[in-house]
Amino acid sequence: MNLHETLSEIAADMAARTDRGQPADYIPELAAVNPAQFGISICLADGTQLSAGDSATPFSIQSVSKVFALAIALGRLGDQLWTRVRREPSGLAFNSILQLESEGGIPRNPFVNAGAIVTTDAALGQRPPKEYLAELLTFLRTAAADEDIHIDRAVARSETETGHRNFALAHFLKAHGNLTNPPDHVLGAYFHQCAVTMSVNQLARAGRFLAGLQHLIAPERARRINALMLTCGHYDGSGEFAFRVGLPGKSGVGGGILAIAPGRASIAVWSPGLNPQGNSQLGTEALEMLARRTGWSVFG
Ligand code: GLN
Repeated sequence: MNLHETLSEIAADMAARTDRGQPADYIPELAAVNPAQFGISICLADGTQLSAGDSATPFSIQSVSKVFALAIALGRLGDQLWTRVRREPSGLAFNSILQLESEGGIPRNPFVNAGAIVTTDAALGQRPPKEYLAELLTFLRTAAADEDIHIDRAVARSETETGHRNFALAHFLKAHGNLTNPPDHVLGAYFHQCAVTMSVNQLARAGRFLAGLQHLIAPERARRINALMLTCGHYDGSGEFAFRVGLPGKSGVGGGILAIAPGRASIAVWSPGLNPQGNSQLGTEALEMLARRTGWSVFG
């Protein structure tokens, strides 16, 4: 199999699709993104990178940022983080409030919004949000070997204005004693973290440390982040994603997905239209095609 041809075929197939899902509309800035776009990029163990489609176009990484925030939080707190957030799939939408009340303010996992807000609070520590965001950008720029990675302030502002569910979650967490910082500070950091823009070229490179292709964090920590990506990275679509693609993956409502083929490749796809679970519709289909053709599923 010629991987470069495979990527071109996948991009051509995706360009012809008419059913592309719906871009997120609860963040007004994201609703305005043209859904006709698709990009894919792969970094391989031999150091090469292959791309096709709109691979250099920056997009809002949104919840894909939760993976990097988790790496930073674990670096600061180590296993203590797990006293504040669990490691179980939620089976519910990314922004659900339901479990948080019945489960005493301890979110199911670091990738649902409630868990990501706790993770960002932990990554923040006692620092002003600005300092944490600078650390996050340095982490991403180092991982991607590219200084041209930034925060889109218009997206952050847009979400701050409409993010009522996240405010509800943060206040609920605070009421349960599971936030050390004021809800406004944590959400300021969280909304800006979600508003980082990257292209799939940059994102695939930034994911290499999770595939074992770059040493940025301890390998056992990367292994555990992969486990959480596989079981929780697509919210109530995580089982379906594991079934269809068979790779650890993290989606964002900007339409990006970072997928990891351990030891082999870091893969980023992007297409703004989402499926009903809030995961990129064509991104998922492209990864399914790629996994089938390469045989890279972690399940053999
Ligand atoms: N910033 C978005 C939110 O908190 C991220 C959600 C996502 O990408 N799934 O709602």
